[in-house]
Amino acid sequence: MHTSIETSASPQSVDPALAAWREVDLDAIGRNVRALADIAAPASLMVVIKADAYSHGSVEVARAAVASGADHLGVAVLEEAFELRSAGITAPVLAWLAGPGARYAEAVACDVSLAAYSCAQVEEIARAAASVGGRAQVHLKAETGMWRGGAAAGEWRELVDLAGRLQRRGTVDVVGVWSHLACADEPRSSSNDAQLRLFLDAVEVAGRAGLEPSWRHLANSAATLSRPDMHFDLVRCGLAVYGVDPLAGHGATVGLEQAMTLKGTVTHVKEAPAGAGVSYGHTYRTSTATRLALVPLGYADGIPVAPGTAVRAGWRGHPVPLAGRVCMDQLVVDVGDLPVQPGDEVTLLGPGRDGEHTVRRWSDLTGRSTYELLTGLDRRRVPLAHVRRT
Ligand SMILES: *Cc1c(COP(=O)(O)O)cnc(C)c1O
Repeated sequence: MHTSIETSASPQSVDPALAAWREVDLDAIGRNVRALADIAAPASLMVVIKADAYSHGSVEVARAAVASGADHLGVAVLEEAFELRSAGITAPVLAWLAGPGARYAEAVACDVSLAAYSCAQVEEIARAAASVGGRAQVHLKAETGMWRGGAAAGEWRELVDLAGRLQRRGTVDVVGVWSHLACADEPRSSSNDAQLRLFLDAVEVAGRAGLEPSWRHLANSAATLSRPDMHFDLVRCGLAVYGVDPLAGHGATVGLEQAMTLKGTVTHVKEAPAGAGVSYGHTYRTSTATRLALVPLGYADGIPVAPGTAVRAGWRGHPVPLAGRVCMDQLVVDVGDLPVQPGDEVTLLGPGRDGEHTVRRWSDLTGRSTYELLTGLDRRRVPLAHVRRT
């Protein structure tokens, strides 16, 4: 296995005594993107990189994704799109979360596509486009059953008529019609089919208003893997790109690889007798005489306080259980008679090579969603290093 550290934020080059860091494998992301693009074909693939690419580093992930065949990038807020443009990334970008007063004119000027959820919003976007002598690329969002953003049936008719008029006037181009699923990770939920029916209605209503957008899109990662009938022209994948299975078992069949590894350096090791109560509340007691190692990662870094935990970290291929409650900046692992020493690397969460649990397993054991686990990793406290494992 060849590993190279790509950025200067590598643990070795920044600080040899770095307490904790995140390693993101850009080659794994590239392989996941290719696998998802194959599944989506003939539909196109949008790689979703909101929230700093689910804590994986948005610019690096965007470059790796585009190099591996992603046709579009998706972000939530405009600032995330501007960051990509400033970094020289020219791929199509859609930003889907903006309110009154948002920097729409700048978005039009740097060719960022915009979601519109309402008549007021598409009017504001059109005015901003006119002010810079441009045409806004707009994706109209239909409410189909998530009840988050998007125009519900009554307003949808008005929205598509208005967008059609603005398009004829030349201030907007309706390039997309889209919606978002509430229960895609529960493939048997009846709400998936109900949302599909309402989405098809919305597309038809848009067609009757003279709109023929190139991009009709509905599917997130879970639906991309489980519902080919929902692929339409474009699928929007986040979680699966990072190699976390959105549906138990489906990711394994397509060979997704978890890209994130979280590591810490052991700061202290000591012997403890049988029956020692470890950490706050003594929720863990040693069953035999053992060795306990201290790792400088805690809930302030985004490690969940796993109750009565069965979560395991990894040391050189050996699983080592977390002992007792995770503290603010530190946690204890029970290393038994393994020869763990201060200065050794321990893997807290990763693809499993060192004996640690995956993000999916952490989620199952702690009840925190995989999305929260990834985005909860504190980006200021736990520096990021990009690596390539070919
Ligand atoms: C986050 C998000 C996605 C990606 O969802 P995953 O489940 O991570 O694939 C797709 N579309 C929208 C609108 C989103 O907010």
